[in-house]
Amino acid sequence: MGTLETERTTVGWAARDPSGVLSPYTYNVRNTGAEDVYIKVLCCGLCHPDIHQAKNDLGMSRYPILPILHTVMPRLLAFYGCENWSSCRGGIRGNEVQVRGETWGRDCRGCCGGCTQSDLEQYCSKKIWNYNDVYTDGKPKQGGFAGEIVVHQKCVVKIPEGLESEQVAPLLCAGITVYSPLRHFALTASSLRGGILGLGGVGHMGVKIAQAMGHHVTVISSSAKKKDEALEHLGVEAYLVSSYEMKSAIDSLDYIIDAVPVVHPLEPYISLLKLDGKLIITGVINAPLQFMRRKSITGTFTGSTKETEEMLEFCKEKGLTSQIEVVK
Ligand code: NAP
Repeated sequence: MGTLETERTTVGWAARDPSGVLSPYTYNVRNTGAEDVYIKVLCCGLCHPDIHQAKNDLGMSRYPILPILHTVMPRLLAFYGCENWSSCRGGIRGNEVQVRGETWGRDCRGCCGGCTQSDLEQYCSKKIWNYNDVYTDGKPKQGGFAGEIVVHQKCVVKIPEGLESEQVAPLLCAGITVYSPLRHFALTASSLRGGILGLGGVGHMGVKIAQAMGHHVTVISSSAKKKDEALEHLGVEAYLVSSYEMKSAIDSLDYIIDAVPVVHPLEPYISLLKLDGKLIITGVINAPLQFMRRKSITGTFTGSTKETEEMLEFCKEKGLTSQIEVVK
């Protein structure tokens, strides 16, 4: 324990250009400061935001770029730095470091009131992104598709005992991305009718979390391909194909979580909402939005570290796991 003075070399997988192809990349992880945690990465999730960044979908990628810091799931960590033990998120049990994961999209320094007072550090306009950004030492910040990473202690979350690493990784991005808006917009009553638009990583966790809250869930998909999976495996109440099956569901939904990663019209989905229904856009698209009528369109950006811990407890309590394919 204590500050690590020398830089450490690690090997990761980096995209070098918008092809998105990853290849081995050797670089130095940053020195640990007093509030830093040095992490050995055992597994991590892959989310569409990583693909957006690797392929420069948003026009802001700085190559070489090591994606995947959204959902890093380290288990027992080599742990240096972080002299401020008592405030280190994730805490310590006896002399052992507890199992931790890393939240994404933040390395907030408490630079605005919202961050420090409201646990909303993910919205801080001055945050340093977990990857594809430059750290305070002027060096590129790289993601978790690597052997080791160094993160600020505020970016680690406590993982409840009994949750498997591979299962937790997607919860740290897809899970919290759905859980946070449902909680924030008070969409938790069990009688609600929810729509999940796009049955991918975020969408499937949306189904599971909404169902665990007791909601009646409709999946809205771009094709009929996932119908059996949605109806039989995930057990949703209804499945709509967005191009031709939507009329039966007009004015029927309290909310829709939109997790489509490309530009698409919103009006067809707004028509599915009840009065005061909410279209919650989580998909990252690089285009202006247009909307109308007395219904809310809103967006959210993942969830705070505190909310993430709350979500993990919720998943544990409800026995929720993610559907994953483990690749060695
Ligand atoms: P994903 O696994 O690739 O799933 C996206 C789903 O969107 C697909 O499975 C597909 O479902 C649907 N889709 C419809 N048209 C598509 C098209 N032309 N190309 C690709 N997919 C299409 O992605 P994800 O990891 O769930 O992420 C979804 C979006 O949310 C991304 O833009 C990601 O960056 C964003 N995101 C945002 C946050 C946040 O905090 N706001 C957090 C995580 C992710 P169907 O086959 O059912 O149509």
